[in-house]
Amino acid sequence: MAQAKIWVLKQHFDGFPKDSDFELKVEQLSEPADGEVLLEAIFLSVDPYMRPFSRFRMQAEDVMIGTQVAKVIKSNNPSFPVGCHVVGRSGWRTHTLSDGSDLTKILDNWPHDVSLSHALGAIGMPGLTALYGLEEVCAIKPGETLLVNAAAGAVGSVVGQIAKLKGCKVVGSAGGDDKVAYLKELGFDQAFNYKTVLSLEEALKNASPEGYDCYFENVGGPFSSVAIPQMKNLGRIAVCGAISLYNDSTPQTGPYQQLTMIVKQLKIEGFLVGRWEHKNEESLKRMLTWMQEGKLKCKEHVTVGFENMPAAFMGMLKGENIGKAIVKV
Ligand code: NDP
Repeated sequence: MAQAKIWVLKQHFDGFPKDSDFELKVEQLSEPADGEVLLEAIFLSVDPYMRPFSRFRMQAEDVMIGTQVAKVIKSNNPSFPVGCHVVGRSGWRTHTLSDGSDLTKILDNWPHDVSLSHALGAIGMPGLTALYGLEEVCAIKPGETLLVNAAAGAVGSVVGQIAKLKGCKVVGSAGGDDKVAYLKELGFDQAFNYKTVLSLEEALKNASPEGYDCYFENVGGPFSSVAIPQMKNLGRIAVCGAISLYNDSTPQTGPYQQLTMIVKQLKIEGFLVGRWEHKNEESLKRMLTWMQEGKLKCKEHVTVGFENMPAAFMGMLKGENIGKAIVKV
């Protein structure tokens, strides 16, 4: 019988998450039934969506939601033989029984020299988010100028690199000088630290005096209020995330941008990566090829130890990560 360590949400977050909101427990698992597999987690993902989705999708005492790269260690399901690797929506657990319905096999041709953890990052959900936001929502074209915030993170760093591959001018903002240096290393045309610039409006104007065709929005709130007026006429905004709002207990208010949206005829569209799930396999192969060709670079911020899941999650929300925040069991 396997024993699983699990992290549960002890009580709903109120404001920024704290240690006492989480509890580490142990669970005894039975042997896999017919059609089931037993998974052992190798890498777990900590993502911003866990903060808002905990409110919509979880109750107190539920296991924290999330995805992981796991190895099948016992199998009564021929689709997932012992030894194969999967991405599973198992939550914050070291071991899981699954009937396979929440599992996706890692790409067949996954190269030996690429860590499987990237299946939770650039060659996984965050990478797909970047790709679909640019291609499906912004319909970005060569020669256009793109703005992306939280640009040194899992999604943002891929957004900027794909836009460069497509022949665009890319401006990124991030919350640290080390992050800005990383963006320049990745080939961003302009990058600035939004925490230290004297005026965000001036920084955006200096980076692209002619304005922005596309804006990949990861942050929301006051950043957005300053950025929207910098859009060109008929600009497109992919509203991917609003991390500056996730920990608010009371909603923030304006300034409101409807007049700018009307006068500039902006298209502003929220999206969830799952909308284009039918394209995932082809998209992941495309991005893996870019990675192997050296066109897509992917840093990771790895925290070691399952017991450090809450610290890794809170650290990511505070901006401690450059690239994808990952926990290695
Ligand atoms: P990141 O790797 O970018 O990590 C989060 C980053 O957000 C931090 O490193 C920090 O960077 C920044 N941040 C935190 N708080 C604030 C704040 N108050 N103001 C500005 N920036 C802040 O996370 P992901 O790349 O995984 O996610 C980026 C965004 O994409 C999130 O909003 C997330 O919810 C969204 N998302 C949406 C999906 C969808 O389907 N729509 C799917 C996946 C992600 P810094 O130091 O630069 O401040």
